[in-house]
Amino acid sequence: MSGPRYHRPKRQDQRLVAFECQSCGWVSYPERKRTCKGCSAAPAEYEEVQLQERGEIKTFVVQHYLPDDIETPQPVAIVDVPQVGDGEPARIYGLLAESELDELEVGREVEARFRELFDDGDRPINSFKFAVPRGEK
Ligand SMILES: [Zn+2]
Repeated sequence: MSGPRYHRPKRQDQRLVAFECQSCGWVSYPERKRTCKGCSAAPAEYEEVQLQERGEIKTFVVQHYLPDDIETPQPVAIVDVPQVGDGEPARIYGLLAESELDELEVGREVEARFRELFDDGDRPINSFKFAVPRGEK
């Protein structure tokens, strides 16, 4: 016997939705900045765009000294993630997870994996990390 099935709707925060400036094409992520960093339009007019799930590491650093409750070493990267379709990529700052340090290099393709980052007591903070795709080393 099985109970009713519930389908969890795909949540907004589980997708890479970014905001493209309608004046210059600069892509804002994760939030919609009032002032466009590309052309300084304020308030900038944005249109929602969908990003791909994979991008390319532009640069990264490995943090070794962090508060005790944070796992180290902790790599963080700036990743250019192309849009689905045409347009500028979004430049996204994110943690790298589930990857070996020696797999990381500038130009490496990584994928966004969504998960609960931590729970601040009131609500879970959902976000994503980048990781080297498995089986493609
Ligand atoms: Zn702009």
